[in-house]
Amino acid sequence: MLVVIVLSIQYWYVTLSIAFIVVAVIFTPRIVRRIRKKRYFASEGFLAHKADIASVVAEHNDIAGYVSEIRSTGSFGLGTSSTGNQSHLATFQNTSQHGYRRDRNIAEYAASNVHNCSLQVVRNAAVDPLKYLMKYFDIKANEPQLGAVESLGESISRLEDAVANLKRREDQISDSFDPPAFILKHYSTEFMRHVGVELSPIAVPYPEYRFEYVSAGGNSSQHTSVQLNTKTIDALVEKLSEKIRFGKSAAGQRALMTTKLRGHIKTRDGHACKYCAVSIAMEPNLLLEVDHIIPVSKGGLSTIENLQTLCWRCNRTKSNKVPVRQ
Ligand SMILES: [Zn+2]
Repeated sequence: MLVVIVLSIQYWYVTLSIAFIVVAVIFTPRIVRRIRKKRYFASEGFLAHKADIASVVAEHNDIAGYVSEIRSTGSFGLGTSSTGNQSHLATFQNTSQHGYRRDRNIAEYAASNVHNCSLQVVRNAAVDPLKYLMKYFDIKANEPQLGAVESLGESISRLEDAVANLKRREDQISDSFDPPAFILKHYSTEFMRHVGVELSPIAVPYPEYRFEYVSAGGNSSQHTSVQLNTKTIDALVEKLSEKIRFGKSAAGQRALMTTKLRGHIKTRDGHACKYCAVSIAMEPNLLLEVDHIIPVSKGGLSTIENLQTLCWRCNRTKSNKVPVRQ
């Protein structure tokens, strides 16, 4: 009896010891890391540098606010497919009793960016995406539509530039602290919060259009996707313009608002703001934008004379007011 008690006590002792070692091995490094982290964020060096770059952080946060303004006021959509525009009036139900898993592929009728079509159209769209995009998503070759595509391109490119600018600033802020590797590895978000940097959750919402074929039984599905990034938008602007010119319209009278033109205007203006004269040479991280002097909403055209380079601060202030030119 005594032997059994002694053995079972020993057994529990060994088991508890092993459990304790396992727990210690798992948790000790984490506890040590947390202590080191707290010390780092409370250290004099960290706090002093944080105070030094407070204005850099404040400007970063201003641009983060500007990014959400662009996101909420810009235009980020285009044509729609009509294949499902009345689908909300019906309810589809798969009542098949067979074990064929016929619900593997279900056509998306409710999404306006999805065109449900034959396999042939899916394949043709992969070969000639712009032609099929225009045909099946109702993007007509006329001036208003060209304007809409250009304005989508401007919104996408402004947001792209602003998001990239924020990222560059974040990298530089982080580099200037040169934090220990474990901080960047395990606490990068917390690091930015301690520094006072507001991380923007906004990503560029590139519209995506899909040509989708789903077989009648749902057994197979194939699709072609076209993402409207700046490259695709520029190509679409050119294509629409060619078609309009072919029809002897007024589109040939003005420049096309493309990445190339925006680059040209910035170079012409010496990468400096036409209002406050601040330039890339003075502020390497300066966010510059191409602005319509007379806004499109007030009849301004995308002519070279009606375009100017503004820094984001002046462009933000300008808002929709037409300036008095001297
Ligand atoms: Zn300015």
